[in-house]
Amino acid sequence: MEKKNLDWANLGFGYMMADYRYVSNYKDGKWDDGEITTDANITLNECAGVFQYAQTCFEGLKAYTTEDGHIVCFRPDLNAQRMVDSCERLKMPVFPVERFIDAVEKVVKANEAWVPPFGSGATLYIRPYMIATNPVIGVKPATEYQFRIFVTPVGPYFKGGAKPLTIRVSDYDRAAPCGTGHIKAGLNYAMSLYPIVDAHEQGFDENMYLDPATRTKVEETGGANFIFITKDGKLVTPKSDSILPSITRRSLMVVAEKYLGMEVEHREVLLEELKDFAECGLCGTAAVISPVGKINDHGTEICFPSGMEEMGPTTKKLYETLTGIQMGKLEAPEGWVKVIV
Ligand SMILES: *Cc1c(COP(=O)(O)O)cnc(C)c1O
Repeated sequence: MEKKNLDWANLGFGYMMADYRYVSNYKDGKWDDGEITTDANITLNECAGVFQYAQTCFEGLKAYTTEDGHIVCFRPDLNAQRMVDSCERLKMPVFPVERFIDAVEKVVKANEAWVPPFGSGATLYIRPYMIATNPVIGVKPATEYQFRIFVTPVGPYFKGGAKPLTIRVSDYDRAAPCGTGHIKAGLNYAMSLYPIVDAHEQGFDENMYLDPATRTKVEETGGANFIFITKDGKLVTPKSDSILPSITRRSLMVVAEKYLGMEVEHREVLLEELKDFAECGLCGTAAVISPVGKINDHGTEICFPSGMEEMGPTTKKLYETLTGIQMGKLEAPEGWVKVIV
């Protein structure tokens, strides 16, 4: 297998059409066998459920080449299960966990030439998603769906090192209590576009969303969970039913406790206590951890003393340990790394 001739180290985070995708269709109450195809386009009726009432959810994970030359992905079973949870909340048919993992494996294998080589810093981003495909005009769940996975090579998230972000406390809300904040639904992103464009216009990198009911507790950003490090070296991460359960964050909690011997607290985090933390980061599949240097709360700046110029020391240890596990340099907990090739 010959790799594509790409400038791997200088890829951005954008869509590049790879050769193959996985498609399975749901009709008459069941999924078909699914297949790998070359057609990157979808033709749908103008009244398809996805267009009218946004019945769609997605996942995001990565495949990468380890030091010893294997192609692996990280905890795909958790993505599969999270998509089950998203589908149930949106009245979409569940794509079984085992089939999801098998489909990821097939589509990555088919696109082996697109998986960036070890050491390039680049990875193959994998995007599974589901859409309602048949015409729906009265408000109700569709009866036909498509599950699809495409892949696209993406560059290192931070070129030339991670520069700490400046974020602002948002006046907009992301997810209502008992709403859909805990699932990976496209609708959660559509309504975050206005506040993120506004944040960028005001010179901020991200929005920190609070709990809409009391506006006193930290939830997350539009696409990443928060982690905080206390001055005495504990990992604290916000707990709320409307936060999307990040796989990166859940993995970092294990890494902190089991690999670094840190205390871990998963609990409500008050806006008021942010000033007492030593370090802050955002975590998600795309960047693993992005350090946060400053939080602006309506003009009042909260600065994290050990993370203004570069990633703080404890955040860095967490980052290096988790990426070491992912890249096969450190022994992974049972079941975390799925070898594909
Ligand atoms: C996908 C996502 C994350 C990050 O989850 P990972 O599983 O770590 O990639 C965090 N918050 C939101 C809102 C997300 O959609």
